[in-house]
Amino acid sequence: MNEKIVKLPEAVINQIAAGEVVENPASIVKELIENSLDAGSSRISIEIVSGGQQLIRIEDDGCGMSAGDALLCLERHATSKIRSIDDLQTLSTMGFRGEALAAISSVSHFEIKTSNGIGTRILAEGGKVITVEPCARNRGTTIEVRSLFYNVPARKKFQKSPSSNAAQVSRVVETIALAHPEVIFSLNGRSFSSTDTKGRVEEILGPHEHEVSAKGITGFVAAPNKAMATRMAQYVFINRRPIFSPLISKAVKLGFGTRISEHMYPRFVLFLEISPDSVDVNVHPQKKEARFKDEGKIFNLVQRAVESAFAPMPTFSEPVSFSEPTSYSFEETFPTLPFKALDVELDLGFQDRLLTVVGSYLLLEKDGLIFVDLRAAHARVLFESLKHKKGASQALIWPLEIALARGEEEKAEKLNELGIECRVLKRTLVVDALPSFLDATHFPDFFASWKVEKKIEKIATRFCRSVKKRFSMEEASVLWRQLQKCQDQTYDPLGNPIWVKVKEEEIWSLFASKN
Ligand code: ADP
Ligand code: MG
Repeated sequence: MNEKIVKLPEAVINQIAAGEVVENPASIVKELIENSLDAGSSRISIEIVSGGQQLIRIEDDGCGMSAGDALLCLERHATSKIRSIDDLQTLSTMGFRGEALAAISSVSHFEIKTSNGIGTRILAEGGKVITVEPCARNRGTTIEVRSLFYNVPARKKFQKSPSSNAAQVSRVVETIALAHPEVIFSLNGRSFSSTDTKGRVEEILGPHEHEVSAKGITGFVAAPNKAMATRMAQYVFINRRPIFSPLISKAVKLGFGTRISEHMYPRFVLFLEISPDSVDVNVHPQKKEARFKDEGKIFNLVQRAVESAFAPMPTFSEPVSFSEPTSYSFEETFPTLPFKALDVELDLGFQDRLLTVVGSYLLLEKDGLIFVDLRAAHARVLFESLKHKKGASQALIWPLEIALARGEEEKAEKLNELGIECRVLKRTLVVDALPSFLDATHFPDFFASWKVEKKIEKIATRFCRSVKKRFSMEEASVLWRQLQKCQDQTYDPLGNPIWVKVKEEEIWSLFASKN
């Protein structure tokens, strides 16, 4: 008996191999989810107890297996995914080694229930098949892994705490779920069900405000003030496989430019589509670091893609300046007004500092910044002037004539009740005077809406909203002054706010860092 060499039994071989393939619950969950994805599942639910050491259960609605395949899948190097080494070139599945189930089942109490139409249940312990029997199950597969490492005490001893294992499992599920919005995942009742990438990213990681969209690179980056002190919130996928890449992390950071402080790591999720021959996708199951053929090129592409995710800052063509008016020349400003303002008493002792007009918004300073929606202000002013007929109608130099349709004559007379001085001559409406804040050029539009709408609050609001124009500073200040005389100065007649106040703290919080 000089021979010392023995051929190891299959079960021992599998247990040794298991050390490489399955390190901990998270790596098991990863293998099992990948199998479910390869099986074409649209729903995958995962449950773990005690961080996975007590139980890992994964259920899918994929293609399932026949009884024969279900038995074979527990054997080492048994796979349906490749037939020859050449198949590796065109591999579209996540697995291909045929090792995971053999390894997992060799270090646990293992149960598989699977159906491809006909259900099979198999129980195995430490890699030994104990029971094979028919069972009832819809198409798909359920795998339960209990008492993990019960027969490998050394490995069991080195397992992390249940909470830390649970955290790792979550990370695995979240990461895979980010890249597969077409599949609904659930983990211990928490479910990821958004079906588009943006929704999926936000449901798992929270808001990521800036979209990255370049050739071969898509994804999202979070606002710079959400950056973290570690790379924990950085997710990179190459052809939908999660990878780790300090190179890409650095490129993204450079893409943030001076928007982020030096020692912080931005949050992002990036998906790269790269032809398999320009990247080593690293087929070793545990190594996730990618190697690129042309690192410089990838670096630049990523950096530029992230740069362009930030909308360019608006450029101001000229410095904004407005000094408080000391006198008004109405002859000059009158022609530009969208309304007649001759009755406006101007009190030029401004207390509010009117700063500028942007489109139809006035910005003014009054214990903070106030944005005034000038169209809403106009609606309020016009509404009150119509309602109270206090418009002290302004005579038109040239009476306005509007053709009436048959039967409109009597109705047209009623315009007088709104302070619009008018007469009907045959089939023509002749307007002699209009209230302030309703000008002759826009009157035909006003008349058109008045014909179909009774309520003056609606007429005034809709009409003022429909007037498309940029306001001048003069128009804005007349409106603002006039608004002060209205019964309500805060809402337009339909209840929309006329102005909003932005407190200094709120402005501050828009810029302030959250870290
Ligand atoms: P690999 O995934 O590398 O092929 P595994 O040991 O993970 O090896 O799985 C072995 C085989 O079992 C797979 O090739 C597949 O045919 C089958 N299988 C595993 N899990 C599932 C599942 N959830 N649904 C259908 N078939 C599965
Ligand atoms: Mg597999």
